[in-house]
Amino acid sequence: MNSARNNSIGCVVNECRFHAKDTNHCTLDKIQVTKHESMAKDIECTDCGSFVKE
Ligand code: SF4
Repeated sequence: MNSARNNSIGCVVNECRFHAKDTNHCTLDKIQVTKHESMAKDIECTDCGSFVKE
């Protein structure tokens, strides 16, 4: 069961353990946003580094 949603972090990745499920929010207090290119050029270069598969 997830704890309360964090209204400051919207997220649609409902496959994640930390997704609020009933709404499109994260339940963590803080997430780490990462990039997987040395220079991020577009949105596809960024990811949530706090994702954990459910
Ligand atoms: S940890 Fe990242 S991917 Fe998972 S619910 Fe939170 S913001 Fe979304």
